[in-house]
Amino acid sequence: MTQHLMQVSQVPAFLMQAMQQEDYVVHDHAHIVDPMALGKVTALVGTGSESKVDRNLLAMLPRVKLIALCGVGYDGIDLDAAKERGVVVTHTPGAMTADVADLALGLMLAVGRRIPQADRFVRNGDWVMESFGMTRRLSGARLGILGMGRIGQAIAQRAAAFDMSISYCSRSAKPNLPYTFYGAVEDMASAVDYLVVAAPGGAATLNLVNARVLENLGPKGYLINIARGSLVDPEALMLALKTKAIAGAGLDVFWDEPRVSPDWRSLSNVVLTPHMGSHTEETRRAMADLTMANLRAFYARAPLPTPVPECRSPT
Ligand code: NAP
Repeated sequence: MTQHLMQVSQVPAFLMQAMQQEDYVVHDHAHIVDPMALGKVTALVGTGSESKVDRNLLAMLPRVKLIALCGVGYDGIDLDAAKERGVVVTHTPGAMTADVADLALGLMLAVGRRIPQADRFVRNGDWVMESFGMTRRLSGARLGILGMGRIGQAIAQRAAAFDMSISYCSRSAKPNLPYTFYGAVEDMASAVDYLVVAAPGGAATLNLVNARVLENLGPKGYLINIARGSLVDPEALMLALKTKAIAGAGLDVFWDEPRVSPDWRSLSNVVLTPHMGSHTEETRRAMADLTMANLRAFYARAPLPTPVPECRSPT
């Protein structure tokens, strides 16, 4: 039987190809061509960062029982509404962990050693007139990780190779990890040089990194955000960067992606990347494969490989 799906965001080309090879009919939520499609759709697909599925949308799709996300974050999904309608949400945890952690280290090096500025300095021919200014050492520096899950732990493993001292803040202490635990991010910020945000977005973590956290991070501290823009208070961060209340920031995620305001682009002490934590060919293929595995299992009525924790059946 032909299965009808609906994409609720653009999906990676690998995933679209795989769905077409499977003979799924994929409708586009932004351009519904067939007015009867809403009644035929049984699963939604989309990326973790761009998919927004609320109560109203689900009410328009009476047969949908699966939301298969190609990504790890699911803060755009109304989980209560999904669960009330018996809709299960799956994601692709683990597939992109290494890449996102790699990018976090890359951003730490980029802001501290000012690599993008150094590149422009050489390209502009400035080197013949003056020498490039001093930068800050990463090796041996103090790292604080907000969110010690899969990505946080992968960042810590990489940072250990740079002889960094490692602290973390998460909802619960992890006694099996050899790092210093802080229950409050404000306290951890006072004790680190680099604060890396690696916790989920959503209402529970909105603006967790606020003016006080940035003040505690201080004029020699750097903020790196590879998680979600919503975790950081944008006005507080802008002020801290403009007044040099912190030394700099490396940002892969923003508040209104992809419309990054010119204010951010004009700052000289930030390094900006376009939400590219998982953008490697290897990871994108692995994410597409895992999304397909969830879709195939759903249509075969088999156990789903990777439901989000809130949708797992109790063991
Ligand atoms: P994960 O394994 O679920 O880990 C999340 C961690 O955040 C856990 O340690 C959790 O603490 C902690 N946490 C949750 N709520 C918190 C709070 N209120 N205060 C402090 N810590 C809190 O998730 P992951 O795979 O590491 O991914 C983390 C996030 O990265 C995702 O949700 C996604 O938004 C983002 N991400 C970004 C990209 C990118 O391209 N830039 C790619 C993938 C993922 P406990 O362990 O104590 O519960």
